[in-house]
Amino acid sequence: MLQTDVLIIGAGAAGLMCAATAAARGRRVLVLDHANKAGKKILMSGGGRCNFTNLYCEPANFLSGNPHFCKSALARFTQWDFIGLVAKHGVPYHEKKLGQLFCDNKSSDILDLLLAECAEAGVEIRLNTAVQRIEKREGGFLLHSDLGEVACQSLVIATGGLSIPTLGATGFGYQVARQFGHELLPTRAGLVPFTITEPQLKALCTELSGTSVEDCRVSCNGQSFVENILFTHRGLSGPAILQISSYWQPGDTLHIDLLPHIDLPEWLASQQRERGNSELKTLLAELFTKKMAALLADSWFSNKPLKQYTPGELRTIAERLSDWQLVPAGTEGYRTAEVTLGGVNTDEVSSKTLESLKVPGLYFIGEVLDVTGHLGGFNFQWAWASGYAAAQYV
Ligand SMILES: Cc1cc2nc3c(=O)[nH]c(=O)nc-3n(C[C@H](O)[C@H](O)[C@H](O)COP(=O)(O)OP(=O)(O)OC[C@H]3O[C@@H](n4cnc5c(N)ncnc54)[C@H](O)[C@@H]3O)c2cc1C
Repeated sequence: MLQTDVLIIGAGAAGLMCAATAAARGRRVLVLDHANKAGKKILMSGGGRCNFTNLYCEPANFLSGNPHFCKSALARFTQWDFIGLVAKHGVPYHEKKLGQLFCDNKSSDILDLLLAECAEAGVEIRLNTAVQRIEKREGGFLLHSDLGEVACQSLVIATGGLSIPTLGATGFGYQVARQFGHELLPTRAGLVPFTITEPQLKALCTELSGTSVEDCRVSCNGQSFVENILFTHRGLSGPAILQISSYWQPGDTLHIDLLPHIDLPEWLASQQRERGNSELKTLLAELFTKKMAALLADSWFSNKPLKQYTPGELRTIAERLSDWQLVPAGTEGYRTAEVTLGGVNTDEVSSKTLESLKVPGLYFIGEVLDVTGHLGGFNFQWAWASGYAAAQYV
C-alpha cells in the first residue's frame, strides 16, 4: 500500500500550488488526477495566454454565500506574491487592461512554473488515475484508486467545478463533500454567454453576430459592469455579459446601456438642431458599426431624417439605447462557462486553514468551494491563495 503525508486530488491550479507549497514545507505530497495532463484549464485559459492574476484583486471581486470567507487566504497570498513567483521564473507578462495580467507568450509558461516548483519540492504527480472510494481511518484516510490503496494523513480536494467537462471537469469534489456530510450550495454556470430565443431579438443577434460594442454598461440585480459586449449566433457574449451572467438568475431582465458615456437626450437634440436632414441611421453609424446602426434605426425606430422625430420619439430613442431591456432564454451552460458558482458551503470550512470543520484532515481548495471570482484573473488568484493557505496546515 502506498503511504503519503498529503494526498491532493486534482492537478489543476489550486492543487499544484498547494502541492508545491506543502512539499516545500517538508511534507510528502502525492497528487492524483484522472486526466492525462495536469493543468488543462490553465493551458486553455485567457485565450491561450492565461490571465493569471489581477493587480486590483480584492474580496469584493468574489461571489460567495459568505463574502468574508475569501478574505483571509487572499490576504496571506496576494497577487503580488504570485507576480513574485512569475518574476522568479522569468515569465514575461503584461497588463492587458483593468489590472488583468497575461503571459506575453503562452499559458504553458504558468503551468511549467507550477510543475517546476512541484518538481523542485519533490511532489509526485500521477495522471490517468481515478479514485474509486475514500474511507476515513484513524489519523487519516484510505483511498481506493487506480494505483491501488493509498493511505494519507491529509486529504485535499482540488477537483474544481463543473465547467467544461471536456477539460476534465467532474462533480467528484461535490460527491466527496456530500460523503463527509458537507452541505452543497446549488451550482450553476458562471462567466457564461447568454442564449436568446425570442425571434426578433434572435434575428438581431444573428445578423450582428461577431459585432462587438465597446464599453457598454450591463446591469442586473443591483450589479453593473462597463465592458464590451459581443453579439453571437446564439445570443450575447463579451466581457460585460460574462461578468453579469454570474449575477443573473433565469427570468431576470438585463439592462444594457449601449452608450453610457454619452448624454443621449442632449446629443440627439443637438443633432436634430444641426443635422436635421440626416437620417437616424447615418448619425448612429458614428457611434456603432454601419450595419448595427442601420439595423437598430430600421427595426427599433422606423428610420427617417432626424427632423421628423417628435420630442417624444427622441426621448424613446434615448431611453431604448441607454436602457435596452431583455430577458435571455438561458445561458450556454457548463459547456462554455469559465466557472461554476456555488459548491461546498464555506460555513463548514475554516477560512484560515481551508480544513473541513466536520472532518479533521479533509481540505477543500479552489473552485470546488462556493467562492467564484469576477472575470479578469480573480479565479486563478483564488486558486493560488486557497492552495497556498491550505498548504501551511496539511
Ligand atoms: C476556458 C477557460 C478559461 C479560463 N480563463 C481564466 C483566466 O484567464 N483567468 C482566471 O483567473 N480564470 C480563468 N478560468 C477559470 C479557472 O481556470 C478556474 O477557476 C481554475 O482553474 C480553478 O482551479 P482549480 O484548481 O480549483 O480547478 P481546475 O484548474 O479545474 O483543476 C481541477 C483538476 O481536478 C481534476 N479532476 C476533476 N475531477 C477529478 C476526478 N474525479 N479525479 C481526479 N481528478 C479530477 C481535473 O482533471 C483538473 O486537473 C478559465 C476557465 C475556463 C474553463
